[in-house]
Amino acid sequence: MNAIEVTGLSKSYGQVKAVRGIDLSIATGEIFALLGPNGAGKTTTVEILEGFRSRDGGDVRVLGFDPSNDGSAAREWRNRIGIVLQSTSDSGDLTVIETIEHFSGYYSNPRKVEEVINSVGLDDKAGSLIRKLSGGQRRRLDVALGIIGNPELLFLDEPTTGFDPQARRAFWELIEKLRGDGTTILLTTHYLDEAEALADRVGVINDGVILALSTPSELGGRRTAQALVSWRDGSEIKTESTDNPTAVVNKLTTHFNGDIPELTIIRPSLEDIYLSMIGGVHE
Ligand code: ATP
Repeated sequence: MNAIEVTGLSKSYGQVKAVRGIDLSIATGEIFALLGPNGAGKTTTVEILEGFRSRDGGDVRVLGFDPSNDGSAAREWRNRIGIVLQSTSDSGDLTVIETIEHFSGYYSNPRKVEEVINSVGLDDKAGSLIRKLSGGQRRRLDVALGIIGNPELLFLDEPTTGFDPQARRAFWELIEKLRGDGTTILLTTHYLDEAEALADRVGVINDGVILALSTPSELGGRRTAQALVSWRDGSEIKTESTDNPTAVVNKLTTHFNGDIPELTIIRPSLEDIYLSMIGGVHE
């Protein structure tokens, strides 16, 4: 069974058509990254799946449940999902450990509080008041609150915004651990390297429409895209675009009778492909 099934999802705010007929399936255990520029419709989509926003049309099933239902089954369903929203609510007068302990009480099968604090790298700050945390530390606390309930399905809306590079790498390790536990994860991010490192599949959304669904390595024909081979020939740097870099390298090896000076082979990055899909550099 798929963890998430969406067909024909639509949502407008007045005249703004934020989501215009999205179809999306996410398998159980999959890590899926939703990519798209500011205002593309990512948060709207994700918050509909989380049951925080209403939809205008389409069919949505999240762990087999329609998130627009708010009957007694909704409580049970909430117990099975974890959420890290884009913006955080304030509970500045509690400490980190008090906050996580408080939230753990909402779930029937929570993780251990100390283990969660450790996995987001907040051991040193466990006793600190939330209002004294830095922005990145606050965000780590958000992630802790998302995973404390030991969710089957975790929603992460731009989880690493404000993280320093070290914290991001630690977060990636945490996601790998959750993957190992079989957690399904739907993540939105503006960091293409993050999507590439973590996601089994990515979806590119622009103007409320999904433009492409693929693995990061295959998005937009990336795997077979032309490679740029460059090398030094005397005082000149030469380049050649090719579908077959091996053939070019073989030719050059013969030409130089061995080592090719300053050889590089570059294929388009996920970011190159993504930017070409959404129409270049956005404001
Ligand atoms: P970002 O990367 O900036 O978070 P996003 O892809 O998450 O963007 P959404 O927040 O889903 O985009 O917004 C999609 C569109 O809907 C935008 O044009 C936005 O202005 C509009 N929108 C979002 N929320 C509301 C709201 N509560 N009321 C009115 N318009 C909204």
